[in-house]
Amino acid sequence: MKITKVEPILCDGGWWPWVFAKVETDEGLVGYGECGDNRAMNLGVAGCIRDFAEILVGQDPRPVEKLYADMYRLARQSTGGVAQKAIAGIDVALWDIKGKALGVPVYELFGGPHRDKIRVYWSHCGTYRARYPEILGTPPIETMDDITKLGKEVVRRGYTALKTNIVVPGKPAYVIGTLDGNIDKTIIDAVVKLIGTFREAVGDSVDICIDLNFNFKTEGFIKLARAVEPFNLMWVELDTYDPDALLQLKQSTTTSICSAESIYLCRGYRPFLERHALDVAMVDVPWNGLTESRRIAALADMYEIQIAPHNYYSHLSTFISSQLCASVQNVKIMETDVDSAPWRDDIISELPQIENGYMILPKKPGIGAELNEKEIAKHPWPNPSRPAPPNIFSGR
Ligand SMILES: [Mg+2]
Repeated sequence: MKITKVEPILCDGGWWPWVFAKVETDEGLVGYGECGDNRAMNLGVAGCIRDFAEILVGQDPRPVEKLYADMYRLARQSTGGVAQKAIAGIDVALWDIKGKALGVPVYELFGGPHRDKIRVYWSHCGTYRARYPEILGTPPIETMDDITKLGKEVVRRGYTALKTNIVVPGKPAYVIGTLDGNIDKTIIDAVVKLIGTFREAVGDSVDICIDLNFNFKTEGFIKLARAVEPFNLMWVELDTYDPDALLQLKQSTTTSICSAESIYLCRGYRPFLERHALDVAMVDVPWNGLTESRRIAALADMYEIQIAPHNYYSHLSTFISSQLCASVQNVKIMETDVDSAPWRDDIISELPQIENGYMILPKKPGIGAELNEKEIAKHPWPNPSRPAPPNIFSGR
């Protein structure tokens, strides 16, 4: 079997694109991976996928880790970032082909499955409804009563955990972010009110997380993690590139700390793990690939730390991340977005089967689902007919 074509596919995801890597072979097998870059460098990721095609076309797709090493070698003066996302997307597409060629799910190739279902949480709970209600067609978030209703919807739909951001109800609602990293009482009060309202709505048996992203410095993260201690969160999540700053935070609060979604490769995770600077290591499979994500999970396991896949993309990524969850032992829970662009269901052959807050492990060969390229063609990116969404980095 030989690789005949490697190309990116971009699809309008509502407010940012979903970016896919497609690998074709001379035997008709096609593999898909996903590797979107939020609102940022998606054309760069697509360009890198084309760059890697040069060394892949003509090769047998099945020695996946060898091809991963070839791609890494080609890009080793640009490690991480856009190049790594392209490598990861292609890596997953290659595993997809290998699984299909052998007629087994990818986790079978890794000695799995470790589990037949994966606990998931409702991510960006309220966040996307606050930012993009017209695209989603969801109820507005105008008052704290709407947060209560949303919390009860989470429970009614069977989820046992949710994650939100600093959502402030209103007309329109908004999500607090900062440009300067400063914390103040207004922000602390908003977080306490939001989390308190969710806790009241969902009860004590549903887990709650809040993601603060890169919005604060260590001082602000510490103040917020301490402020939510009474609510017994599953975790406070944040992003930082300084493992010592993260350790300082972890040692300053009783709240569990999740981080590292923006970290690449075992080399990137090592300083965080060897300091035990986090309680849960977020791992982005579309950015690390299955090859490297499994290594990161194994490294985390050595330090007695659970992983949680970072998964805020299309359904394909949910299938991809489920393959990791089935392939390693130390999984805490998997992210999943319930609210999304309405056509997310149309662009894929299968939908994730989620029952009572768990995703049932896919059984089909490869990743477990195929992209529907005809439907994707109806939603091109860039999409000139869609006005630019509000700038989510513009502070409050
Ligand atoms: Mg996050």
